[in-house]
This record gives sequence, structure tokens and C-alpha cells, in this order.
Amino acid sequence: MSKTEPFWKTKRLEDMSKEEWESLCDGCGRCCLHKLRYEDTNALAHTNVACRLLDLESCQCTDYVRRQRKVPDCVSLTPAAVREIDWLPPTCGYRLVADGKPLAWWHKLVSGDPDTVHQAGISVRGRAVSERRAGPLEHHIVDWPGQAARPKRPAPETPPKETKS
Ligand code: SF4
Ligand code: SF4
Repeated sequence: MSKTEPFWKTKRLEDMSKEEWESLCDGCGRCCLHKLRYEDTNALAHTNVACRLLDLESCQCTDYVRRQRKVPDCVSLTPAAVREIDWLPPTCGYRLVADGKPLAWWHKLVSGDPDTVHQAGISVRGRAVSERRAGPLEHHIVDWPGQAARPKRPAPETPPKETKS
């Protein structure tokens, strides 16, 4: 019996349903961190400063439906934008599928658990600061949002030790 391949392995980004498209987001929150672009060199620098609408614990936008009214420079991803943008992290589900690469074990579509992106240390949880209190972006330049750090696998559960009574 042949196993059916999941949609992200068989469909082009353009051919996905809205629901499939939305599900490609792993919920890492990295794209909601501010970036700096140097005018003279066009070089990009990542920061750990998050958009004011990002919930730093859940790594979700707190007003996703009205986000572009509230944050005009919030980028709405499309298949064309995914191929064009140079600041999407290498771990981003959209970028991986656009590049013909597999989703990692911690992606919720693979693991079945939206928490594995946090457990693996891929999301911004615990390492981002809100723009509301960050101060100058230049003080917050970091490399990790643009890197595919080696993810942590959750430790296997250890069986409880037997105790004699
Ligand atoms: S970087 Fe990609 S996978 Fe992560 S939150 Fe943004 S769109 Fe979703
Ligand atoms: S408005 Fe929401 S989706 Fe857009 S960058 Fe801010 S937190 Fe992210």
C-alpha cells in the first residue's frame, strides 16, 4: 500500500489552500524581530527586538487580523515574497518548502505538537525583548535569527524509580 505524501511535499506554494498555507508557519516568531539594513552596503543585521504586537511567550501576534493596520511595515507573506525576501530565517517553513527542503522534526506539521518549535529552541521564546522597552536597535544586534541553530531534542522521559517501602 502506498503512503500518501503530505501536501507540503507535493504542492507548490501557489497551489496550497489558505489553510495549508497558514499551517506552514511553524510559529517561531523570528520574522517579527526587527532587522537593520545598512544603506551603504545593503547588508542586513538581525536583532532580538520584537515587534510590539508579538507575545514573547507564545511567539504569536496578538492582533493577527488587524496587524497591518496597526503595524504598517508588517510584511504579508505570499509565494512571491517568500522567494524574494532575504531575511526569512533558514528554519522558516515557507522558506524551506520554497527551497524544496523538508520540514524539520520540530515543525508542528511533522511533530503534531505546536510546542516542539519552542522545545527545540527554534522560536524566539526567552530570547527576544519587546520594542516597547528595548531602546536603540543597534544595541541588540544578534546572529541567531538568521541561523539554523542545532535544535535541541526534548529529553526522553525517564521512568520513575522503584522505591521499596
Ligand atoms: S519565520 Fe516563517 S515560520 Fe517563523 S513565524 Fe515567521 S513566517 Fe512563521
Ligand atoms: S504585527 Fe504581528 S505579525 Fe506583524 S510583525 Fe508584528 S507581531 Fe509579527
